[in-house]
Amino acid sequence: MKRFHSILPVDAEGYYGRFGGAYIPEILHDNVEKLTEAFHRYAADEEFNRELDLLLRDYVGRPTPLYKASRLSELYGTNIYLKREDLCHTGAHKINNALGSVLLAKRMGKTRIIAETGAGQHGVATATACALMGLECVVYMGALDVERQSPNVERMKMLGAKVEAVQSGNRTLKDATNEAIRDWCCNPDSYYVIGSTVGPHPYPEMVAHFQSVISREIRSQLKGMTGSECPDYVVACIGGGSNAAGAFYHFINEPGVKLVAAEAAGMGVDTDMTAATIHVGSEGIIHGSRTMVMQTPDGQIIEPYSVSAGLDYPGIGPLHAYLAGTGRTEVLAVTDKIALEAAFRLTRTEGIIPALESAHALGVLEMKRFAPDDTVVLNLSGRGDKDMHTYMALKDTVRI
Ligand SMILES: *Cc1c(COP(=O)(O)O)cnc(C)c1O
Repeated sequence: MKRFHSILPVDAEGYYGRFGGAYIPEILHDNVEKLTEAFHRYAADEEFNRELDLLLRDYVGRPTPLYKASRLSELYGTNIYLKREDLCHTGAHKINNALGSVLLAKRMGKTRIIAETGAGQHGVATATACALMGLECVVYMGALDVERQSPNVERMKMLGAKVEAVQSGNRTLKDATNEAIRDWCCNPDSYYVIGSTVGPHPYPEMVAHFQSVISREIRSQLKGMTGSECPDYVVACIGGGSNAAGAFYHFINEPGVKLVAAEAAGMGVDTDMTAATIHVGSEGIIHGSRTMVMQTPDGQIIEPYSVSAGLDYPGIGPLHAYLAGTGRTEVLAVTDKIALEAAFRLTRTEGIIPALESAHALGVLEMKRFAPDDTVVLNLSGRGDKDMHTYMALKDTVRI
């Protein structure tokens, strides 16, 4: 049987250097082992990949365009190409992983799917994949997020998913994740779809694999547009790290390509209103893996803050902890204010309203100088419809 081999710097136990692994309750061991086995088998299976590729093309609308943003390029004095994940069905990159994961669940004979969601994008993507494939779907969401993100809650319900509002903690993503893990422990036969490159091995590797279609497309599209498959820079925002992992994937082993990650600084890394885990975190364990965590000296999780509901997570995927630690990625902390300004700038120069998360990647253009002949690929992870309420509430605070 053909076996899948990751090109990521990951070992057989799921470690990226010191980070990663699988820190899980005994009751899930067997499950996680079977999942790893199934993932490695199907990721190398021609029939599985043919079915997934067809769905990505005809259902998601891939390949998403690589768009040369001429007016934005002129504004920042460099050459900016936007990878348009905002044009994916359901409005963000999350569907790439949700479809791959639910298809894998179906191959494994699972009938019940569990997911957690913050802003609701992963919940919508998973509910969509479950509707498409006829599987039961339960989505855990912090009660505060249920209030803040009602359009996505309505979408999930219309798609037939059951949305469980979680009342513990500060009632956001971390608490929803705890609850989803609890459900999985009680129902080990269910399939847990994690929405980012976080969680125990094999999730970070698996989610990165399903998102790697982003950089695979960038390489061939860029070749057609510039004559070279490799840009000078790839820029992406990081919450847990899945869109960045997808955009970086096929460039990680290309030392000539500089990788820039934008994490959410909130009100600033020198305040306690931040979600910039790599800047302010320390090594610890969260949701099944060893990684960088925002925590007190005695290991209590510090509640994160960002204007963007998709980025306020107190951890970071182990791949990104490793890439940042070795200096392979440059990590910038982008404040709410810079992200908001960058979002309005993109909207007014290119007529594209970005997701607030993606606006943090755009913030890099405000913070870092690029040379006139640089090629900069920026992953536009999602569209801004879900964030209109926030944009309108804050528009008078922004200097456009
Ligand atoms: C969820 C989300 C993110 C953050 O998640 P990653 O796993 O870090 O990609 C970024 N952008 C959009 C549009 C999202 O929906």
